[in-house]
Amino acid sequence: MNKYIKPSKLIGNLYFAGTYEASTHLIDTGDGLILIDPGYFESLFMVINNIWELGFNPKDIKYILVSHAHSDHMDATDELVKLTGAKTFIGEDDLPLLTGEIYHFPIRPFKPDVLIKDGDIISLGNTKIKCIKTPGHTKGTISFFFDIEEKGNVYKAGMFGGAGCNTLVKKFLDKNCLPYESRNLFLQSVERLLKEKVDVFVGNHVQNNNTDKKIELLEKSDINPFIDSTEWQKFLLERKERIKEIINNNE
Ligand SMILES: [Zn+2]
Repeated sequence: MNKYIKPSKLIGNLYFAGTYEASTHLIDTGDGLILIDPGYFESLFMVINNIWELGFNPKDIKYILVSHAHSDHMDATDELVKLTGAKTFIGEDDLPLLTGEIYHFPIRPFKPDVLIKDGDIISLGNTKIKCIKTPGHTKGTISFFFDIEEKGNVYKAGMFGGAGCNTLVKKFLDKNCLPYESRNLFLQSVERLLKEKVDVFVGNHVQNNNTDKKIELLEKSDINPFIDSTEWQKFLLERKERIKEIINNNE
């Protein structure tokens, strides 16, 4: 725990309830809460406290969405289900990571209620989340898209569910007997995401969209720094360059 992030409303009905190491977002749908990525098991107590601080009751979490089956996104899921009884969702192709059929890192698995397929829409209250399969970082990585309303305007929010190339370098793939094809899948996923229009880039990690810095800015300014229709494209183009570099140099 090297840095604290104040639990904050980001825009409209979207809130940040995570830690610096693992991002957790909450959507208040008016008919219960959707939580995206419970984070590490060890920091669940902080996430629970953050949810209370935001003025919500953790018991109102109805859906838990997991972007991909890595510990920093999902290790707290099983425990959070015990506390809330929430329904869990994860990409269908990440099931082999949960069962141990495919290995990346040590994880605390959970039993998913819903396996997300490409194009699925997850609906609760006033919110509809479009799910797009974006394999690469893991095979079952899911990216999420939904509308957010603030001050009478509707914005398109988007999260790239797994943007890291750390699982695509030669050393990692060889060590875990994983296919090199994952790199091409990542590139195709980035190409597909580039076609989405996004006004509010939601970080799968704090570093993706500088969540922490924007929260600080938000406190000082009337202009919401989370609204930026150029950021999504910029981030994806940088990811595209990085994966091409890895492929071309066989890093
Ligand atoms: Zn990951």
